[in-house]
Amino acid sequence: MRQHFERILISEEDIRSRVNVMADEINKAYAGKDLVVIGILRGSVIFLADLVRQLDIPVSFDFMAVSSYGSSTESSGIVRINYDIKTDIRGRDVLIVEDIIDTGRTLHHLVELLISKQPASLKIATLLDKPDRRQVPVDVDFIGFTIPDEFVVGYGLDYANKYRNLPFIAILKREIYE
Ligand code: IMP
Ligand code: MG
Repeated sequence: MRQHFERILISEEDIRSRVNVMADEINKAYAGKDLVVIGILRGSVIFLADLVRQLDIPVSFDFMAVSSYGSSTESSGIVRINYDIKTDIRGRDVLIVEDIIDTGRTLHHLVELLISKQPASLKIATLLDKPDRRQVPVDVDFIGFTIPDEFVVGYGLDYANKYRNLPFIAILKREIYE
């Protein structure tokens, strides 16, 4: 499978230490509070699983699945909710956990939707951020790594639903998706 990658961008070890630092930041930000973590399926599950195990505050979690129409490597901004949370988040402290913010359209839409349910607070934790590609502004509170404009896979991130199980994050060769 190595021949599918341009190179490894973030090693397993670097992910682990950064996720631990993020968990520390989140523990501090929510000290004394009860947190509802909302994972965005399916890309966030590996990150979420590692992150929540480092949290020492009371945590419950729920999930949302969204799909956005567009090309295979770019979202269109038309976001459809395929699975919605079952938790009543009114008055709760909510943290969205996402794999990557690219154009910002998916999260912009999700934030609007969740805000309308009147949580006490709403913050975002993303493993990866590609700021060069942003088209819609998103206020991100916890960022794992800021990365260049490259299509990446691994540690939850996919291309055509593959490569999610890789323990590292790699840049996918253009010939695989073009
Ligand atoms: P946005 O709405 O453009 O911010 O898109 C965010 C979603 O696009 C993410 O949740 C991913 O599912 C997908 N995505 C964006 N960039 C990448 C990438 O480099 N690799 C894998 N998925 C990506
Ligand atoms: Mg995603």
